[in-house]
Amino acid sequence: MAEAEIGVIGLGVMGANLALNIADNGYHVAVYNRTASRTEAFAASAGDLSDRITACATLEEFVAAIRPPRPLIIMVKAGEPVDQQIAALKPLLEANDIIIDAGNANFRDTMRRFADLEGSGITFIGMGVSGGEEGARRGPSIMVGGAEEAWKRVEPVLTAISAKYQGEPCAAWLGENGAGHFVKTIHNGIEYADMQMIAEVYGVMRDHLSMDAATIAAVFSGWSTGPLDSYLIDITAEVLRVNDAATGRPIVDIIVDAAGQKGTGRWSVIESQMMGVPATAIEAAVAARSLSAMLEQRAQAQQRFGLPQQQDQRNGQLVIDDLEKALLAGKVAAYAQGFAVMAAASEEFGWNLPMATIARIWRAGCIIRSRFLDEIATAFTQDPEVPNLALTPSFSKMILDTDLCLRRIVAEAALNGLPVPALASALGYFDTYRRERGTANLIQAQRDFFGAHGFGRLDAEGEHHGPWGG
Ligand code: NDP
Repeated sequence: MAEAEIGVIGLGVMGANLALNIADNGYHVAVYNRTASRTEAFAASAGDLSDRITACATLEEFVAAIRPPRPLIIMVKAGEPVDQQIAALKPLLEANDIIIDAGNANFRDTMRRFADLEGSGITFIGMGVSGGEEGARRGPSIMVGGAEEAWKRVEPVLTAISAKYQGEPCAAWLGENGAGHFVKTIHNGIEYADMQMIAEVYGVMRDHLSMDAATIAAVFSGWSTGPLDSYLIDITAEVLRVNDAATGRPIVDIIVDAAGQKGTGRWSVIESQMMGVPATAIEAAVAARSLSAMLEQRAQAQQRFGLPQQQDQRNGQLVIDDLEKALLAGKVAAYAQGFAVMAAASEEFGWNLPMATIARIWRAGCIIRSRFLDEIATAFTQDPEVPNLALTPSFSKMILDTDLCLRRIVAEAALNGLPVPALASALGYFDTYRRERGTANLIQAQRDFFGAHGFGRLDAEGEHHGPWGG
């Protein structure tokens, strides 16, 4: 008999934990995984929740186990596997069943899948989920894209399993078709920038102030009671404190400095470039991960060039105080850029993305959760149409309060040859953004010189050309 209220396909890290979370919230869930041994292992370890879980060996069994109209969450590797899974499901489903792709899909794939399923009677939802393993199990942040009517049908279960911020669910419908996956992509882009800037600050403490991991951990812990209070700062302090069992050394000192990436950071940058909206902090973070992976070349380059001579160093505590504020300034730039990219996409794809809601559902459950996001939610609630977060009163004040510290840190890092590309890009962004008369007049002159592209004049309307070459 079909007794499950919802199904989960894919019992990897995320799917298994999401299924347990659903069962924990009182729903009966059917589960299926391509490799049957994983399904069996999952069922065997479900403990008290077993009576709310129907483990299925075949897709047919899985579909039959769920009461129609069926909500089915697909949580498999993004890309081709999702298409394969949809193709396998399609002949088994009935009108009004809902396929929810909860993986990290490229939103352009999501838009294509919406188009492919149109007219089939099957409803589709593209859903971003953030929070990693722990979030999936205890409450993630959930970003939904699709028809609002489809969201209404799954809202009770999705809000039940989502994280809560002061009792408010961190799950929301954000717009049609690819909206949820786009927002998740930008979430991850911001996450890249956040992590990169934390790593840069760690680098200044390690390589400039010669601080050991435990001492740096204490600094991050101290910051977690201030404006930087966030999950990423907390886990940074935590990982810096952990020692390797084999050597007794801090584990961070043994880990190879080559960062992995799966695509969402890069997609954020590609989309921001396509829309002509600068996301320099995210770009710098993605580029830094790519550079980090060039281990051999970096070793050769250090042999060739050496490292710059260290300049006179300021009092360490003054540097640390500046680092805290520089990190906050960098964070403002990264979030301002990320939200500006979402605003442009909202316009381009007609999503009407609710910026304050996005900030609200990122306050708990997800990797970038922080006190800062509550301030962003307030800022967008007070001024939903503001073109850039930096122009809201509270964030303008934050920029003015931290500006000099960011400037000193970037200057000090430059003089000492310490790479801080994301923090430097944040400073470059602010300095370009805040200056009414920049230097693009010269670029326009050059463009007109070699390509007759024309330019505007300060003292006249219309397009003009220069008297080049006499
Ligand atoms: P895992 O690597 O733990 O599991 C992958 C799952 O995908 C397995 O169930 C695997 O089945 C299945 N799979 C792979 N290829 C196919 C295929 N061709 N057909 C059917 N099933 C297939 O991945 P995660 O759980 O970490 O990630 C799942 C999704 O969630 C991804 O899109 C990921 O980007 C996203 N995500 C991950 C987060 C994380 O922190 N890990 C956070 C947020 C989103 P099998 O057992 O048969 O190999």
